Amino acid sequence: MSVAGQSLKVGRFAPTPSGRMHIGNVYAMLAAWLSAHAGDGSGDGGSQAGLEGKQGKVLLRIEDVDGPRALKDADEWIMDDLHWLGLDWDGEPAYQSQRTEIYEEALRSLESVSLDDFPLVYPCFCSRADLRAASAPQEGDRFLIYPGTCRKLLTEHPDEVRSRLEAGQRHSWRITVPEEGARGSVVTFDDRIFARQCFDLPREVGDTVIRRSDGIFSYQLAVVVDDLLMGVNDIVRGRDLLRSTALQIWIRQALVASGFAKKYGIERIDGPTYAHLPLIDDPTGVRLAKRKRSLDIGSLRSDGVNPEQIIGYCAWLLGIRGPRNVHMPDATGPVSMSAREALECFTWDDIRADKSDRILAANWASELTGTKPTV
Ligand code: GLU
Repeated sequence: MSVAGQSLKVGRFAPTPSGRMHIGNVYAMLAAWLSAHAGDGSGDGGSQAGLEGKQGKVLLRIEDVDGPRALKDADEWIMDDLHWLGLDWDGEPAYQSQRTEIYEEALRSLESVSLDDFPLVYPCFCSRADLRAASAPQEGDRFLIYPGTCRKLLTEHPDEVRSRLEAGQRHSWRITVPEEGARGSVVTFDDRIFARQCFDLPREVGDTVIRRSDGIFSYQLAVVVDDLLMGVNDIVRGRDLLRSTALQIWIRQALVASGFAKKYGIERIDGPTYAHLPLIDDPTGVRLAKRKRSLDIGSLRSDGVNPEQIIGYCAWLLGIRGPRNVHMPDATGPVSMSAREALECFTWDDIRADKSDRILAANWASELTGTKPTV
């Protein structure tokens, strides 16, 4: 299926089930939903969807790869809140916790590749750094550039590595990035909001854990495997993942080069488009976190807030200034609206116009409940 000669857009919601969604999660989900359904291949300059209805697809992927961090029932709360908000998705939700064999296959494929005579993945016996580096970096982009200890060990003492592996010593697996100045060391991509991005993999990312020493696959590998196999071509998420995107592009290229994608019948390997959103801070300037009950959708719902108020508020955070129609010629604050109404007035230009992180006003909850109706 295609729209005006473009392939069908496939976006995704990829929540980590670590708690109830908060307003920042809804803002990101709404943006992903709008982007996928906006039609015209880009949504740039305005949405055509209003004329023809929803276009594109949105998949739901529950990112519970890190089992111990997943909260029981959080997936159900997320789905219930999404339904209630009118943010629908296509097909059955996918659970990363059920995809371990696929990630294992991906790791095996990567093991078969080398980069300038050095294995593309190598065992790493470093412990503390390992666990810190392997968790999803969304809380403030916690990249620790690996100093290359075990890379050096493998180069200089391959026998020692072999015997440590044979002895069953605990280890993680890292993906190698090119050396400074080497081919492929700089990754460039065009972000829909933040424009051209350029990251030097060895200096700004480093060799990264893709399987932790406790056997859990890292966010970075799982997300790339899933986006690739699920045909996701439209990725919308927070700007704290900009640097991860450079790494994910590298992993994706490596997976394709290793023949992994082909094994799953993926022939089209164009990279997805990316849009990284400004982040949302609470009124004290602290990034919103799922553990703050006061800000979550559950408590807003029990306070009697309705879905259109929340969608309208998130649309306003996205820069959408309401339907420019006779009823609301110059809306200055949030306007209550459904997701479908937001789609009619969605354009990337509005988000680009203000790329700064959003700080919720101290009276944000009353601002939210005070959203005006569209007519
Ligand atoms: N599970 C990640 C999160 O909740 C998703 C990141 C992504 O969109 O790749 O932040």
